[in-house]
Amino acid sequence: MNIHEYQGKELFRINGVPVPMGYPAFSIEEAIEAAKKINGKCVVKAQIHAGGRGKAGGVKIANSIEEVESFASDLLGKILITHQTGPKGKIVQRLLIEEASNIKKEFYAGIVLDRAIGKYVFMVSTKGGVEIEKVAEKTPEKIIKITLEPWQDLQPYQARRLAFSLNLKGEQIKSGIKTFNSLWKVFKKYDCSLMEINPLVITDENKVIALDSKINFDD
Ligand code: ADP
Ligand code: MG
Repeated sequence: MNIHEYQGKELFRINGVPVPMGYPAFSIEEAIEAAKKINGKCVVKAQIHAGGRGKAGGVKIANSIEEVESFASDLLGKILITHQTGPKGKIVQRLLIEEASNIKKEFYAGIVLDRAIGKYVFMVSTKGGVEIEKVAEKTPEKIIKITLEPWQDLQPYQARRLAFSLNLKGEQIKSGIKTFNSLWKVFKKYDCSLMEINPLVITDENKVIALDSKINFDD
């Protein structure tokens, strides 16, 4: 079973993983209401069970409430075709309206169960925002991996290794370590089978936050 980005971000939010302020919207009216609460630049994001929305026009930055309204009316009820949906695409029935972040850098972070060794693997890569499968294929050395026992906490040296492999500096290190610990906490608490944050970003304020979320659970 998988959940939508906005639902994953809600789990993140209540467990200490920083995410932008945002609200789901099932109608144009709700999208406008959400944008008013955010009161600034917003991102209108189609909520479908597939990635690749950005390139397919499913993630749009709005500079005004009018733009939120027009993007919401463009997207709601439309079929979005991305490289992950297959040719039939997926119908957009909900949106996430969220605060636009000022992005300094985009990374990839993921946690998966490696069934072969019966351990969890926490991965990060500076090659964020792009398809991680391509990175794994062409430049596997760009993916740094930490293995974890299911009962284990992320050890301080492991969290530091993740932070340093992303070249985090100064305040970013502290923020990154807190985010990694909270991500692992979410993964264990909800018995996830996969978690991907692509991108995990450094903001202009040097915070390490989750801008996307993909979470799967075993049925
Ligand atoms: P997908 O993986 O389906 O393409 P993402 O949520 O990763 O969707 O969004 C695609 C891109 O849009 C991100 O890599 C990021 O550059 C940008 N983006 C997404 N959310 C925000 C946000 N809240 N603020 C600013 N940019 C964003
Ligand atoms: Mg993404």
